[in-house]
Amino acid sequence: MSTATASRGEIRLRSLAKTFDTMRALDEVSLVAAPGRFVVLLGPSGCGKSTLLRVLAGLEAPTQGEVWINGRDATALPPAARGIAMVFQSYALFPHLSVAENIVFGLRARGVAKAERAARLTRTAGMMGLAGLLDRRPSQLSGGQQQRVALARAVVAEAPICLMDEPLSNLDAKLRTEMRREIRALQQRLGITMVYVTHDQAEAMSMADQVVLMRDGRIEQDATPAEFYARPATTFAASFIGTPPMSLLRLTQGAQGAEVAGAPGFAVAPANAAGATLGIRPEEVTPTDGAGLPVRVMAAEFLGAETVLACAVGDGAEVMQARIPGHHALPAGTTLRLRLPPALHLFDATSGRRLP
Ligand code: ATP
Repeated sequence: MSTATASRGEIRLRSLAKTFDTMRALDEVSLVAAPGRFVVLLGPSGCGKSTLLRVLAGLEAPTQGEVWINGRDATALPPAARGIAMVFQSYALFPHLSVAENIVFGLRARGVAKAERAARLTRTAGMMGLAGLLDRRPSQLSGGQQQRVALARAVVAEAPICLMDEPLSNLDAKLRTEMRREIRALQQRLGITMVYVTHDQAEAMSMADQVVLMRDGRIEQDATPAEFYARPATTFAASFIGTPPMSLLRLTQGAQGAEVAGAPGFAVAPANAAGATLGIRPEEVTPTDGAGLPVRVMAAEFLGAETVLACAVGDGAEVMQARIPGHHALPAGTTLRLRLPPALHLFDATSGRRLP
């Protein structure tokens, strides 16, 4: 295999920075997406996800750094020469064109011959369940069907890399879950590299091979969903992943070891953990009659298969959540003890970094 073939679909970003006036939207961003990976850019509003996608697509020039695509330096290449397809949040279909015309619009603009356009249209429409809808106008489609046409418009380009910026944000919750699966399945079937932007951690965790969490223009953590869950690198990552996310508690020095602040008499970690931040996943605690962390229920939320408890720990200086299976009618004020998981997450209280 030649190098060019081996790196088809590969993305390498080297020390990217992007500054708007004095605003650093991207700062020292380096990232590798191997061919065929589903990479999700995750993070809160304004962290730089869309800017990163736009630099990757060639719609913005980086202030510093390099963009390598398919094994070549693409930093100076115009968008059309990058071999990248894109789906935006506002997927605006042309209302006066049919579904078929909408799908092949980009091919036509790029001068792809008529026979080739027709062949690709048939292939794409068949694959995406749009074959029976080709003569309709966008206004005659449901929201989900319109979304599928927007995806088809990207798929028909047959590019090795596809970028999507919050493509599901206009859909209702149920449809969004369906489309997640559909996009993931499509990406795998086509074997393309996907870079997908979302601020929804559940979307990221369910779709991605690789999650890139961003914060203030920098990469906070770049890992598989399983690694993110098992070993969040910082308190920021810890509090971004999970439903509800990890509870973070201050540890102080106690007689037998480190205790949660305000809950004396129950050591939760070795003495040298005093001063650190303890992370506890709400689904990893269990109510117990034996030794456990003393808490007082502030609110109980019944979700069907489980109950989520918001609890004050000890004297109430710290709060945490507990997710326990089944229905528990626990009025506010109920006191109980929670058994903690054997493996603890500890973070430096100042830097927020995970302690080894
Ligand atoms: P969201 O989820 O809200 O879309 P995001 O993570 O995609 O947010 P970006 O849109 O990349 O964030 O924006 C990152 C930062 O750069 C923000 O502070 C934004 O205000 C700023 N920014 C983005 N584009 C421009 C621009 N063209 N001019 C000036 N500032 C910009």
